[in-house]
Amino acid sequence: MTTDAPEKSTHHFQAEVSQVLGLVINSLYTKKEVFLRELLSNASDALDKLRFRLVTEPGLVPEGEKLRIRLIPDKAKRTLTIWDNGVGMSRETLTTDLGTVAHSGTRAFLEKLADAKRADVNLIGQFGVGFYSAYLVADEVAVTSRAAGETEANRWTSKGTDTFTIEPAERECQGTTIVLHLKPDADYLDTYRLKSLVERYSDFLDYPIELSTGETDAKVEVVNKGKALWQRRPSEVEKSQYDDFYKHLTHDFEPPFAHRHFQVEGTQEFSGLLFIPKRAPFDLFQPEERHGVRLYVRRVFIMDDAADLLPKWLRFVRGVVDSEDLPLNVSREVLQDSSIVRVIRKQIVKQVLDLLDGIAKDEPARYAEFWGVFGRVLKEGLHFEPEQKDRLAPLLRYESSKGSGLVSLAEYKARMVEGQKAIYYVIAESRTLAEKSPHTEQLRKRGFEVLFMTDPVDAFAVGGLDDFEDVPLVSATAADLKLGDDKSAESKDEKAVDLDELRGLIRAELQEDVSEVRVSDRLTDSPACLVVPDGGLQPHIERLLRATERGGARAKRILEINPTHSLLANLEVERKTNPASPRLRDWIHLLFDQALLAEGSPIEDPSQFAERLTKLLEEASKRPPDAPLPPG
Ligand code: ADP
Ligand code: MG
Repeated sequence: MTTDAPEKSTHHFQAEVSQVLGLVINSLYTKKEVFLRELLSNASDALDKLRFRLVTEPGLVPEGEKLRIRLIPDKAKRTLTIWDNGVGMSRETLTTDLGTVAHSGTRAFLEKLADAKRADVNLIGQFGVGFYSAYLVADEVAVTSRAAGETEANRWTSKGTDTFTIEPAERECQGTTIVLHLKPDADYLDTYRLKSLVERYSDFLDYPIELSTGETDAKVEVVNKGKALWQRRPSEVEKSQYDDFYKHLTHDFEPPFAHRHFQVEGTQEFSGLLFIPKRAPFDLFQPEERHGVRLYVRRVFIMDDAADLLPKWLRFVRGVVDSEDLPLNVSREVLQDSSIVRVIRKQIVKQVLDLLDGIAKDEPARYAEFWGVFGRVLKEGLHFEPEQKDRLAPLLRYESSKGSGLVSLAEYKARMVEGQKAIYYVIAESRTLAEKSPHTEQLRKRGFEVLFMTDPVDAFAVGGLDDFEDVPLVSATAADLKLGDDKSAESKDEKAVDLDELRGLIRAELQEDVSEVRVSDRLTDSPACLVVPDGGLQPHIERLLRATERGGARAKRILEINPTHSLLANLEVERKTNPASPRLRDWIHLLFDQALLAEGSPIEDPSQFAERLTKLLEEASKRPPDAPLPPG
């Protein structure tokens, strides 16, 4: 103990600190409760620092003393005290760190304010501004601190105006005591309120947070869960603990479908605990749906739904990520262009895909369950992040023309028939339409399996999937459908009719509707179908675009006609014998309309279609003049 202990001294806040204090004190910011997060995290930092020093200086703390934090509400005095037995501060540190040297958060905050047109009080919440956030709720703050290894203590006090004072004080052990003299409207003395705030912001701090609930110090209750589950070794955590944590996190009543727990060390350190739920949330396909993981920084809760950490096509994933490297006062804006965030996001994607890969390989039936619930979302990844194609392709499952179950691309490839050179698919609105699709007739006749892509997202997603392990994916509706051999040329000969002249007539009649008329080699049973020219839009996408862009022109497709179909042969006879026949024109339009209907597309003019069909039926049902009348 020094005999010439320094007297009380008064200091001016550094200009930047004063600016921040002024803003904090006059702030209308509603989320004032963040002060508790900031002060508890400072206490936790101080305990971390002490724990680190104890490794080499075990004598710093009396044996058996437990490192901890205590919250002491005092209703009579209207004070809230935050006490810790961490590393503490010397007189010098108190002066610099709490007043004369602006720390990085303060500067960042002021820079941000300089950018903004007007002082936006909400920025205070985003930036936290550390210790000074105490003035969101207090009109006077006293900090008594004793540095570890020292015997003297000092008290820092300030009303948050221009100056603060420092004077010698007493403290029973190393650490810091912060006494907040609460503003009249600051309601932070109620134990329930304090408990719920701790649970919200600081539940997983490494040290017990004791809440004193009685008159004396003896009556305390530990109000945080303590060591974060994700900080433990996965081998030390029971399945039931994961389940409980998942339920706590998501409010789901069922355990998760699967989880992934990982810890990354190296230039960046973070840990994560990710879950895939069993069921889809109701808003999975709502554009404004919230998604992301819960972000912690060094065990301190920062925000829910950190969307920058999780791509939208993994929006079904829930969980937490805890970064050792991000600043505590990180805001959503800062997250957006942080290289730390990019590294974490990449790792999250990898972890989820690894998890799914493992299930797909080891438990195919279980994987099918997952696919049924979230496959549609995962497929969006092909569109939004084509670079993930090689990771996503093995996870895809489709219904197909073979069997009623799901098939993977690898299984498809393994059972391709001889001579087949591509993976074929058809985009349709339903399995029924896909099964009956005229476009796939030749394919199926040859025994080629056809994948049924019946999700609205498929039309977009498949664009990111040109090939699988060097086998090209080919749409059955593509104009240049190559079947990989020239059997088609032979089969054409059997009973094919020369349709060249008819083709010209159809082309002229349908010039508003189709870009070209071709004689088909893909049809066996249907008279005609429509195909997409090279580079053209799939009809489903086109319809979606037309729906949003209101009245966009329908892109013209190619009409393919079947030279072996008797309908076409009959039309050709009609053309030869009666070239000016008006009913031939009606029939051509009907042929076109039924090709649209067969693939599930709407027809342009249903009333005209109905008129023509009625005329046709009328004629076809006419009794021949010499037919006998039915009896009666
Ligand atoms: P940051 O935590 O980002 O450094 P703060 O404004 O929260 O900024 O705190 C400023 C500094 O005050 C800390 O860096 C630390 O040195 C000191 N400090 C604050 N609270 C405590 C405490 N409970 N124990 C020891 N030092 C503290
Ligand atoms: Mg801090």
